[in-house]
Amino acid sequence: MVRDLEGQMVGRRITGVDLPFAAEVKYPDPLEFRDRVVGRTVNAISRRGKYAAFQLDGADVLIIHRGMTGSLFLRNSSDPQEAHIRVLFRLDDGRELRFNDPRKFGSVLLMERSGLERPLPWLRMGPEPLDDEFDAATLRRALARRTALLKPLLLNQSVVAGLGNIYADEALHLARIHPQRRADTLSTHETKRLHAAIRTVLAEAIAGRGTTFSSYRDYEGREGDFQHRLRVFGRTGAACPRCGTAIIKLVVGGRGTHMCPRCQKV
Ligand SMILES: [Zn+2]
Repeated sequence: MVRDLEGQMVGRRITGVDLPFAAEVKYPDPLEFRDRVVGRTVNAISRRGKYAAFQLDGADVLIIHRGMTGSLFLRNSSDPQEAHIRVLFRLDDGRELRFNDPRKFGSVLLMERSGLERPLPWLRMGPEPLDDEFDAATLRRALARRTALLKPLLLNQSVVAGLGNIYADEALHLARIHPQRRADTLSTHETKRLHAAIRTVLAEAIAGRGTTFSSYRDYEGREGDFQHRLRVFGRTGAACPRCGTAIIKLVVGGRGTHMCPRCQKV
């Protein structure tokens, strides 16, 4: 999503902001938000964990987390409006970046890039899984200090950034590790498998342009493609692609969790 938007939006100036649901803006207050955003140019778009970061000219960064169901659409201003637009940015080329968020779990923030104004939301987040600094030794050190169950720990972003429910299940299956293992019980070999699996799953999902399990759409409204290649997520009762055993679903840390009882032994 970020790569697409960067190709479309860098160099564009934001000429207006509509806030049909101002509570989606978590910081600063809506009036100040609009004041600081309007007139700014998008210099770059990056990503940290699940946050998209629009680097504006000047000192500020516009931060958007899509929540569970949010989508960012780039449309012409004459295109019909989607039903759940919460924040809308008008651009100087006649297009609009529309944040459509049916369940309102998303968040939009603007703060100084320095992080001095407020700690940036990723201050305590673990490393980026696809960066060089995230290696198997780093993962091993992080897990060795934790007694939490593996799956909830992967979801809380502190050990590694960016994994959500789908990709955590997929990575644990590929690594052949039970989601309820205690983090500090993983062997060096298992940690290496998990590290490789996290990278493989994310690289495949990005190459597949995302996973549309329920609501994900790209900036033009198209579905991703990775849902057709999931190994376990959402496949309860279907055959494990590795061993043919029926996939089961558990609840781990309050989240639906899909796994193969044969490949992922307790
Ligand atoms: Zn299996």
